[in-house]
Amino acid sequence: MFKATHGIILPTTIIGSLPRPAWYTENLGKRGFREAMVLTGFREQYIDAVSSYLRDQEVAGLDILTDGDARFDADVGGHSWFSYAPNHMDGFSGDFAYKAEGGRAGIPSKRGEILHEVLEARIMPDLTGPVGRGNLQYTSVWKTAQRLTTRPVKFGTITPELLALAVRDFHYKDLRDCIMAVSDALNEELTELVDAGCPAVQMEETQIHLLAAKGLTDGVLNPDFMVEVFNNTVKGLRGKTEIWCHTCWGNPAQQRIFATQQSYAPALEALNKVDADILTFECCSSGGADLEGIGQVIADDKKIAIGVIDHHTLQVERADEVAATIRHGLEHIPAERLVIASDCGMGREGMSRRHAANKLIAIVQGNNIVRRELGLPEAACLAGEDKYSLVEEA
Ligand SMILES: [Zn+2]
Repeated sequence: MFKATHGIILPTTIIGSLPRPAWYTENLGKRGFREAMVLTGFREQYIDAVSSYLRDQEVAGLDILTDGDARFDADVGGHSWFSYAPNHMDGFSGDFAYKAEGGRAGIPSKRGEILHEVLEARIMPDLTGPVGRGNLQYTSVWKTAQRLTTRPVKFGTITPELLALAVRDFHYKDLRDCIMAVSDALNEELTELVDAGCPAVQMEETQIHLLAAKGLTDGVLNPDFMVEVFNNTVKGLRGKTEIWCHTCWGNPAQQRIFATQQSYAPALEALNKVDADILTFECCSSGGADLEGIGQVIADDKKIAIGVIDHHTLQVERADEVAATIRHGLEHIPAERLVIASDCGMGREGMSRRHAANKLIAIVQGNNIVRRELGLPEAACLAGEDKYSLVEEA
């Protein structure tokens, strides 16, 4: 059901992560979140970091916020986005570096490339026993952010297939069984989160479009099975909250994982079958190349979130560029079904907080241009108010 976006035309948000403040030096590591929050040093820094992430988003004027992925550590290439779940779930143990067939979790690289450094810094546990939700504590993590703001906080999680592909499985010894076991455990965790009131849950990210782009027809790694996995993971949730399906073309160390721009076209029929209320698509980096197909194929019961800023670049999009991308979206998607977002998360290590903050403002100011054109109420953007400028009139 529509919850976070309910009643808002052209709602704005980001995908998830924001650059870590330099003073946020505490890291969770393998500790449980509640366990770490007992410690005054961690608790103070964590709450201050989440507060500043929320504040940046409120000052920009976004409608739906995130906690900036503050639970993840200061590590290379967004490692915690992969490792948080297995390091906190039951069934995983140890710390191992290895190269899986074809590159770990689909990241191809060779020595001398930045993605190789990402892989070198990837130490993961093995799967050695039955998977359980363990110490994920998503509900506590979400509540800690939501109680700092009256705006809805969207919560994101890694998908089961990516987690399963990133570890060695010595227990199930069958990729399909392993993925489904992780999916069942995540469903239990997400059910608790949703029952606690979380207004939007975002799955990051299904492999449907990546497998479709590669044309893979493997018995397990194929778009149809990934649809089955997605729907099992969110089973029973869509009747209670808003489910988002995030897709992008990669973000390790803010790099694309393909040498050339990919197309969503081969994946759209499968993406249309996921049990999600909102599908997100990278549209800024591609110049909106797939918007026509997206508008044609994705069914009316789903909203479509388009990326209007690029997480890979330090060049801050101008408001009129953002407005042009939104107008392009409106040529193919009705305003009632269009959501305005970033292409992916801003990343924790690659971009300065200042660049990220200004990109958030660009989203809202660009969206306000279009809202004005359509006669819709504009979002308050404190960061863009001339009356608070410190620059003196000549
Ligand atoms: Zn992404």
